[in-house]
Amino acid sequence: MGKWPLGVFASIDAGLGVKLEVAKELGVPTIQLHAPEKKSRTPQAAQAFLKKLKDYGITLTAVFGGFAGESYADIPTVARTVGLVPPETRAARTQEMKEIADFAKVLSVKVVALHLGFVPHDAKSQLYQETLAVTRDVCDHCQKNGQALHLETGQETADALLAFIGDVKRNNLFINFDPANMILYGTGEPIAALKKVGRYVKSVHCKDGKWAKNPGQEWGVEAPLGQGDVGMENYLRTLKEVGYTGPLTIEREIAQEPERQKAEIGHALRLLTELKAKIG
Ligand code: MG
Repeated sequence: MGKWPLGVFASIDAGLGVKLEVAKELGVPTIQLHAPEKKSRTPQAAQAFLKKLKDYGITLTAVFGGFAGESYADIPTVARTVGLVPPETRAARTQEMKEIADFAKVLSVKVVALHLGFVPHDAKSQLYQETLAVTRDVCDHCQKNGQALHLETGQETADALLAFIGDVKRNNLFINFDPANMILYGTGEPIAALKKVGRYVKSVHCKDGKWAKNPGQEWGVEAPLGQGDVGMENYLRTLKEVGYTGPLTIEREIAQEPERQKAEIGHALRLLTELKAKIG
């Protein structure tokens, strides 16, 4: 693969990505995959999926873990329900995340990723220590599989994320940078954040969004690529500056409107193709 191959976030039966057939129709060379539900994570399903990828000429670059019971309804609900931070669901989800990593291994994928959840701000709190422990546990499992673990950005400021990664102390822990999430969650200006965390960025989402009136209190609004507050040209220039050469994976989380989702991703592909030619 050359520099900055285009990609799209895809789903089989869980998650907000496009169907593999849509990725094929759009002509994208790479996808990230939202991990399918447990019943679909069989070796047979993996082989069938690999065959489809081969037929379509698509390379799978990362598998994202997600869990039943997660809700992105509003910011407090995310804190309560998402990722490996909430104590009530942590043990079962950690087990599932390891199974997802093993499924990714069957698919020959070296990157697994997730929304870890809201990392507690107080580094001395028990919850912070528990979050460190569970992250190390998943990193170590991935290490045995020859995989890296990428944390999706958004729920932390760049500084908090850097401090957390430093505290985890694992050399296979990296970042999937999503510039829109920084805006949607109100955790910081995305370009400045990318400059700070750039050395850890090993995969990215190309997603756009507009700031909320009260960032951090309420959601910002996701927008079609190029129509939000990220500034796509500046985003790509900054990715170049930090030395990022991996896939540019478009994410547009409006799976409830598949036709619009496909059209907007098509537009995003054209925009990124233009910007690549100009900047790449
Ligand atoms: Mg994302």
